[in-house]
Amino acid sequence: MLQDSNNKNIDKNFKLMALSAVVLLVLFIYTIYKSSSHITGSSYYIGIIFLFILLFLALFLKLKQDQVRTFFSKYKKDSSAFDEELNKTKAATKVLNEDLNSNIQAVTSNITFKDVAGINEIKEELEEVVDFLNHPQKYLEYGIKLPKGVLLVGPPGVGKTLIARAVAGEADVPFFYQSGASFVQIYVGMGAKKVRELFAKAKQSAPAIIFIDEIDAVGKARSGKSNDERESTLNELLTQMDGFDGESGVIVIAATNKIEVLDDALLRAGRFDRRVHVGLPNINDRKKILELYLNNKNYEINIDKLVNETAGFSSAALATLINEALLNMIKNNKKILDDSDILIAKNKLEFGKKQIKILDDRQKEILAIYQASKAFISKTKVALFDESVQKLNSTYPSYYELCENIKRDLAGFIGLEVIEKEKYAINSEDLERASKLANDIVNRYKMVNSVDELLTNIKNELRSELSQNVNEINRLKQIMLKNEVITFEDI
Ligand code: ADP
Repeated sequence: MLQDSNNKNIDKNFKLMALSAVVLLVLFIYTIYKSSSHITGSSYYIGIIFLFILLFLALFLKLKQDQVRTFFSKYKKDSSAFDEELNKTKAATKVLNEDLNSNIQAVTSNITFKDVAGINEIKEELEEVVDFLNHPQKYLEYGIKLPKGVLLVGPPGVGKTLIARAVAGEADVPFFYQSGASFVQIYVGMGAKKVRELFAKAKQSAPAIIFIDEIDAVGKARSGKSNDERESTLNELLTQMDGFDGESGVIVIAATNKIEVLDDALLRAGRFDRRVHVGLPNINDRKKILELYLNNKNYEINIDKLVNETAGFSSAALATLINEALLNMIKNNKKILDDSDILIAKNKLEFGKKQIKILDDRQKEILAIYQASKAFISKTKVALFDESVQKLNSTYPSYYELCENIKRDLAGFIGLEVIEKEKYAINSEDLERASKLANDIVNRYKMVNSVDELLTNIKNELRSELSQNVNEINRLKQIMLKNEVITFEDI
């Protein structure tokens, strides 16, 4: 259709050109005939020659119109392909420029590992990342690829953000902070755009660290219910993580306290394949953290006693406690921090807005029995504030191994039942894990017929095993209360 109308237009133009030339020629000849006696210059003759050329040109073009048409359409195609390419490049550059023009900004972290008290094992694990950012050549020479993503798993306030900032500070690279919640937008595509912007900026300033706090807000497993916005954001995050290699110098650190809700795709090799567990601070960590915050202050408090009294506090809670105590000291025009300031601060935390749970001796004992029973059954290291216990982890687990894992989850409850002759609402997650696994044994692997029967049998087994070893569990409880951890050697 388009071709036809083009042809018609060209034909019309030729005819018009030829017709105008003929009309003008006739007019000229008539003028010359009428006034030939007055013609003095050569302009009239030049005009006639020009009109003849025009006429010939029109006839020539008409005869060769097919070749002319092919030539012009080829030129047009070439130039439109070029335009298309140019437009694509322009669009890509525009997107990149837009991404780079976003208001996502890096900060320079002045925090180093010195500012992170305790948790030495975690610092050691991350030192490798720092070294890689400082000396990438050392690793690349041997073709060693470092993980692109490190996932810090742990409850709030244990210093996950602080550690990530310390990694950036140690490596002296820009630190891009974003919380997972900030990616969750109302409009579809906006979250994905923000993810793109973040990665574009980080790549531009590489080597750099991207820190995504509370990644579960965006990285939750895709459920049956569709949530286009969150899904498109998660997909963009996965695409971006796949889109750079270890050599780009960008390392993504993410934090979550609920690893079990994360989408499997995020945990797959090549994404967040390195996981670091950050738990509540143990006795030694708490001492170091308190000392750090009391550094350069005048105080007359028994730090060891305070360390014991603050079992179960997160690092952030410890920092707040000292801060509140110092505020109280200033309010009372004192120069030395003492126990009364700590007591007032503790009450404020326990009953104030933040409501930090403070474990008294009895509560601590209950938790110690619970965890000691787990240590006894699993014969592995268990810490007072570490909720989960190490599990058997075969690729193809046997029925015995699966039941053993259920036992490890239920050991705490039955231990309390046996020793305290009472049931306690203590760690519902262990119960959830146990019943989920029992469900798998029955409904997925069809190993036995009834979930209830399976759980009852396991509980009975635990009851008999634990009640025959009450003294041993009490011994482990004492170790737990003293050290807040039971090691393999203690068992
Ligand atoms: P999370 O990211 O795990 O919620 P943060 O890193 O935000 O915890 O920690 C909150 C605050 O607690 C920090 O700003 C810091 O003041 C304090 N804090 C946490 N862990 C430590 C630590 N190991 N040493 C010193 N201070 C800490």
